[in-house]
Amino acid sequence: MRFAARPGLPRRLLPEALVRRHATAGRVHLTFDDGPHPVHTPAVLDRLRAAGVTATFFVIGGRVAEHPRLVERIAAEGHALGNHTMTHPAWKPWAGVASVTRELRACQAAVANATGLTPRVVRPPLGRVPPGFLMAARRLSLEVLNWSLDTGDWRCRSSADAEQCAGETVRLVRPGDVVLLHDGPAALAVLDQLLPVLACPSSSPGVEASRGGPASGIL
Ligand SMILES: [Zn+2]
Repeated sequence: MRFAARPGLPRRLLPEALVRRHATAGRVHLTFDDGPHPVHTPAVLDRLRAAGVTATFFVIGGRVAEHPRLVERIAAEGHALGNHTMTHPAWKPWAGVASVTRELRACQAAVANATGLTPRVVRPPLGRVPPGFLMAARRLSLEVLNWSLDTGDWRCRSSADAEQCAGETVRLVRPGDVVLLHDGPAALAVLDQLLPVLACPSSSPGVEASRGGPASGIL
């Protein structure tokens, strides 16, 4: 079984004008979905802080409401906050623009209540971009950011899986990648292998992490 992978052809064919998948300045940008989590998010933040790397956290509004202090910490440490909907619905291709807009608006409000900041980027659950989602994102002036490298951390079921996933990620990562991770235990194993590589571009030429990104929700 393999964990880390690039998106399939249908996703890669979506024009970057609609869905961005690459980081600015050719650096590697780390993204963490589905948080905040009371245990895993602080551990992720500790590692990023120690490495001097900033990331984007695509948070779920319902979890933001449960852990507002954690979201405050994410912003205070210089990371960007992105919208990952209020309830993480698995949209069908015919998802309506009105219901999608409600999901996105509710998450925007949850983040604003916790931090005073309004996300400017959005990532749909499972990376699915039905037309109704694209219309809703445009309506709310949210830039859609998916990924170019999925670590597969969400499929890990053991520490051995996580170690394998981390090794695959380090081998695959390239300059300009937007890397998909989650606020979970496997992400920590990936970070432990990946951050030293990103901190030392000479060991892997051109591969360097984003640093010092704004907290307002853009990369
Ligand atoms: Zn998600």
